[in-house]
Amino acid sequence: MSKIYFYNSLSKEKQLFRPVSNGSNEIKIYSCGPTVYNYAHIGNFRSYIVWDVLHRYLEYAGYKVKIVKNITDVGHFTEEDEDQGEDKLEKMARKVKKSPLEVAKFYTEVFIKEEKKLNILAPDYRPKATEEIKSMQKIIGQLLKKGYAYETQDGVYFDTAKFSGYGRLSGNTAEGTEPGARVKINPLKKNPTDFALWKKLVGRNKKHLLWWTSPWGKGFPGWHIECSAMAFRYLGETIDIHTGGRDNIFPHHESEIAQSEAFSGRQFSRFWLHSGLVAVDGKKMSKSLENFYTLRDIEKKGFDPLVFRLWALLASYRKEINFSWQKLEETKLNWQKIVEFREQNWEELIKSGQIKAVSLQKDELARIEILWALAKKNSFYFKLRQFIKEGDQKFCFAMDNDLNTAVAFSILLKMLKLANKKPILSVEKIGALILLEEWNKVLAFLPKIKREVKLTKPVQIEKMLKMRQKAKETGNYQKADQIRKKIENRGYKILDLEGGKWKLKITKK
Ligand SMILES: [Zn+2]
Repeated sequence: MSKIYFYNSLSKEKQLFRPVSNGSNEIKIYSCGPTVYNYAHIGNFRSYIVWDVLHRYLEYAGYKVKIVKNITDVGHFTEEDEDQGEDKLEKMARKVKKSPLEVAKFYTEVFIKEEKKLNILAPDYRPKATEEIKSMQKIIGQLLKKGYAYETQDGVYFDTAKFSGYGRLSGNTAEGTEPGARVKINPLKKNPTDFALWKKLVGRNKKHLLWWTSPWGKGFPGWHIECSAMAFRYLGETIDIHTGGRDNIFPHHESEIAQSEAFSGRQFSRFWLHSGLVAVDGKKMSKSLENFYTLRDIEKKGFDPLVFRLWALLASYRKEINFSWQKLEETKLNWQKIVEFREQNWEELIKSGQIKAVSLQKDELARIEILWALAKKNSFYFKLRQFIKEGDQKFCFAMDNDLNTAVAFSILLKMLKLANKKPILSVEKIGALILLEEWNKVLAFLPKIKREVKLTKPVQIEKMLKMRQKAKETGNYQKADQIRKKIENRGYKILDLEGGKWKLKITKK
């Protein structure tokens, strides 16, 4: 297994990655999921795409990955400080005159569908906060018992001054937080950074629609405790990697560390990985400013969601990136070139008779097998093996370095450029086709080849084309058209070129 380095937000440096349980190859990841009160925006999805590549790359490197990605359907407030603002779900529910759970159900389904469109693998567990209240209450009870939490008239709070490690991740300590971050501080709290574990149905939260009974009265959980409870329940007390957007560092992740480690007495997560934010046309994007785009906007403008996926991976995941339609348009051109490289070369292999029968719809594993079988019959087999080995080493070297997808893509593009100049039966071309399929297991930006193309004997097609040509020459356009339709029914499209020449294209739907 290669040595993988990640930038750990906790230690603020690149660190060699090793799984918690030494000798095991299982990796446990907790990924903060969406708050399902609205459509996820492109900043959210940039983050989820990046973590999908993390997931896929660890598997590519030989690890077994277990992932929890929660659904937040209660307790996440419109302001970072939960003493202000209101529950995002409840605010939306009031606006659209539905129940919070109806709103949550709707946006959860949309989110899962959109993740699929972006080739994001489903997590092993997708727990909902509202279904995990008991586990949260258990932790809150323990924190009170251990003296890390205290009860007030309006809730139960975590005492950040009691936890010595508070501030390790974000730099915000119990004594002082970033200037101007807080306007009004709840007078019932001991320290400004103390956060709610449980909120009671009193005062401004009196009319909260979702509530549960608890030893501290009717109420609902704070946002941060949800993630700790779900991580513990599905992954255990110590996990390998915790992911999220940079905006989750404070207060969300800082609070998760405090309550989790105070509860268990162990390190909560070894690695904390954070993705950079997305700006739109140079401006900070935020749901409250309503200058954010969703995947629906991208699709409405005619872009394949996978073009957006490619765009999200063209920069290092930690960088802040700027979104613009022009940039997406440029990405689309590159994306199309790569898609065409793959399809045209497969088509050529079929036309040349090198491959007897092939179903392009099969997954990449099947396609890779077909290419290797073809290579074995050719004299360049050993050279090809060397080519693949060296190419993949370069790719992994880039990815091992904190998932540098930017470099990985430049390696890929260079490889295709070189292959384009070579004939179909060459080390460079077959090699590029194999590596493209291999790397797509990690980058997952290429679309499925949708149409089942059964091999129609090229000879037969050639005959039909000749007949069509003759018909055209003799002015029998009706017949020419009939033959064209027949050819098209077999999965080919004829592109008429200048001077009576033509080109065949395998059609997709
Ligand atoms: Zn979280």
